[in-house]
Amino acid sequence: MSAEGEKQPELRVGPDPNVVYPVKVQYCGNCSLPIEYCEYYPDYPKCKEWLEKNLPSEFEKVKLVDDTTTEAGSTEDEKKRQKRGGKGMLKTKKKEEVQKLITVSRAPRGKKKSVTVVQGLSTFDIDLKVAAKFFGSRFACGSSVTGEDEIVIQGDVKDDLFDVIPEKWPQIDEDLIDDLGDQKR
Ligand SMILES: [Zn+2]
Repeated sequence: MSAEGEKQPELRVGPDPNVVYPVKVQYCGNCSLPIEYCEYYPDYPKCKEWLEKNLPSEFEKVKLVDDTTTEAGSTEDEKKRQKRGGKGMLKTKKKEEVQKLITVSRAPRGKKKSVTVVQGLSTFDIDLKVAAKFFGSRFACGSSVTGEDEIVIQGDVKDDLFDVIPEKWPQIDEDLIDDLGDQKR
């Protein structure tokens, strides 16, 4: 038995047993630098070509890093952002800036008739389809959802809405309904 032999693991200096030596450095066939330096080489695109052919697994790594930083990637993001904030934003502006408010107005329909336009119900989380149906049966006339947050009731019922809306949806105070008067459509 050797006491020294037992102590050896604690005293070990030198190569880390978890690392395989010699550390393998892969050199680029295009610029002859270790491949992690290729990106600093002026002819990096050619290095990538070489990598793709000769060290596909390393190329994948380079490619992944590259894809997240290229200009193409960021313009793609830009496009998405613009799409997301496109049409919808113009109509309702930013959601968090929208005040809870309902507006009612009268709009001409034909020569003598008027329709009533109700906007803003969805700022109170009211289902517009349900609301349109309710107005239709309440006023016994046509009523439909005509926009993102707009219902048109076929008839001049604007003044009645100040009673009907708070009665149907108690969370809406009459003061939260704004009369926009007559609108030209
Ligand atoms: Zn290279």
